[in-house]
Amino acid sequence: MPACNICNQPLGAPVYQSPQPVSVTSLCEVLSGSTEVFHCASCGHVQTTPMADLAAYYDKTYQILIASEDEDQLYAIVDGQNIFRTGHQVQTLLHFVDIPRHARVLDFGCAKASTLRALCERRTDVQAHTFDVSEMYRPFWDKFVPLENQATYQPKAEWREHFDLVMSFFAFEHMADPQAVLSQATALLRPGGTFYCVVPNLFTNIADFVVADHVNHFTESSLRRLFAGAGLKIERITDAAHTGAWVCCARKTALPVESGGENAAERVQEIASYWHGFGERVREFESAHRGLPGAIYGSSFYGTFITTQMRRPESVTCYLDQNPHRQNQTLLGRPIVAPERVSAEVRVIYVGLNPAHARATIQTVTALPPERYAFFHP
Ligand SMILES: [Zn+2]
Repeated sequence: MPACNICNQPLGAPVYQSPQPVSVTSLCEVLSGSTEVFHCASCGHVQTTPMADLAAYYDKTYQILIASEDEDQLYAIVDGQNIFRTGHQVQTLLHFVDIPRHARVLDFGCAKASTLRALCERRTDVQAHTFDVSEMYRPFWDKFVPLENQATYQPKAEWREHFDLVMSFFAFEHMADPQAVLSQATALLRPGGTFYCVVPNLFTNIADFVVADHVNHFTESSLRRLFAGAGLKIERITDAAHTGAWVCCARKTALPVESGGENAAERVQEIASYWHGFGERVREFESAHRGLPGAIYGSSFYGTFITTQMRRPESVTCYLDQNPHRQNQTLLGRPIVAPERVSAEVRVIYVGLNPAHARATIQTVTALPPERYAFFHP
């Protein structure tokens, strides 16, 4: 029986198993094999059975936004202005953490380290360091991090108790052993140093529940438990600073740390039911609009997931996306285009967005007037 990654208790039966043997990763790759999700009754953690050969996947395959220097995910559109994820992340970091002058800062599991780079542009005094379990991001680091401040696979021995701030953006959800990795990260902090962490929140972005390569889906109680075990006292944890994510700010301490919080069993069960019935809803909508050419709005996880659930995905001619970095790319063999460029024969739009704000968002897209299309709302 599998054990909880956070509290080591046995997990019991899964709360969700994908009805069809197909899974989608956070990078929108479609894999064969079903996704299996557990909920820990003891600490509230939600956990997915890891994909085979996780380490090799991140080392060689997982190339997040590596196409160019500037490629970034669209975080929000406010008053017609695109706000990208990196910009929002550095803004939030500076809001929550009072970074000392000339601070030694490590971006832990950082991929391109774009948030650290944006921080260095605003705070030229900061001493930047990078660490990841892959060599492939070095060309990005070389542009702003001295070689002696970079490490791959293992942190440097001389980094023990070295840092004022260790930060981690969207990394711990991928880890098969988050307890060991967080202890490793904490060991690099000076006493009293700050650990700052952003991870997905399945309660505000429910797609996280079915992402095949997210092993960990943190709840407030499982985060508290994890941090307490590593000797980190949480000073702030919020679901309101970053859409779809937890932002967590903690301090290294030698004193015992209490954990706690609700285990959220009912909310987890609701999300499991939503995803269990999702494919049927897609196929019912499809049947009701049989034969009409369609487009999928959103070329990220939700759009990909909808495609995998369709009976006749060939009726989808393209994906629509407002992110200029996505336009002119392809997804599952179809073009990704700006909504204004949707082809004239399309009559059906599948909205591939977070259901928490899908309706509100699609209403703002003037290129897709409601009198012209039938919409599938997630
Ligand atoms: Zn647990």
